[in-house]
Amino acid sequence: MEPILETRSLSKRFGAVVAADEVSVRVAEGEVVGVIGANGAGKTTFINMVTGYLKPSAGTVRFRGRDITGLAPREVTRAGVCRSFQIPQIFRELSVLENVLIALAMLGEGRLAWLRPLRSREREERANALLRRYALDAYAPARAATLPQGVRKLLDIAMATVARPALLLLDEPTSGVSVEEKFPLMDTVMSAVRETGAASLFVEHDMEIVARYASRVIAFYEGRVIADGPPREVLGDPEVRRHVVGTELHRTGRSAFHA
Ligand code: ATP
Repeated sequence: MEPILETRSLSKRFGAVVAADEVSVRVAEGEVVGVIGANGAGKTTFINMVTGYLKPSAGTVRFRGRDITGLAPREVTRAGVCRSFQIPQIFRELSVLENVLIALAMLGEGRLAWLRPLRSREREERANALLRRYALDAYAPARAATLPQGVRKLLDIAMATVARPALLLLDEPTSGVSVEEKFPLMDTVMSAVRETGAASLFVEHDMEIVARYASRVIAFYEGRVIADGPPREVLGDPEVRRHVVGTELHRTGRSAFHA
């Protein structure tokens, strides 16, 4: 089957730093891929290149067979690839519902879309459906600034999906989220993504999250992919244990598997 995403020899240099070194990766329709790697391994650079936030120094990005290398983020979103950020990109002073209404308004229904009223019946219905899918409906009137971090991240991810992506990239969905919130958050996100049939790729430092939710894991080290396969295989790989898992376990003091 043709992959939904395929990168070939994707590379990025920042002066003398090689942030991505010939990264060739394929993601299949509906797959859930976890991306791991120590700080500075090149994970965010990879996501930034796929989503148009960074132009690669070399290599290509194909989405459903179409070359999207170097397209602007907005065009990549329109093509069907959306993302969330490590730090939620939300309007803190607005309500949860207003945040989603704005994300829907930004979808760009014509050049003067921003001149039209924010609230319309159809838009509110879509916003409410999205809030229900992400278990955020009870928070609809709440000011975003007052939300717990896990709910704020969930809102950011929900807003990233207003364009109904076929591929969703999540940059550290559980960073800064409490231990109590992280599994419910991921359960909600994964079931919402499954419902839409989208493929997803998430960057994560928490090996418990990776082991529990990814169907496949890609490990980065110094800009290169050092392992790519089923979670148990990759998380048990000696090179991955040395360069990735070991450093993460040192950070969190936990084990990757309870096995
Ligand atoms: P983290 O887990 O800390 O988010 P990461 O795996 O996402 O790390 P990147 O942020 O992709 O790593 O960084 C990869 C390398 O590229 C690092 O050495 C980083 O310092 C460098 N780098 C990233 N962005 C830039 C930039 N805009 N200018 C210069 N160097 C950069």
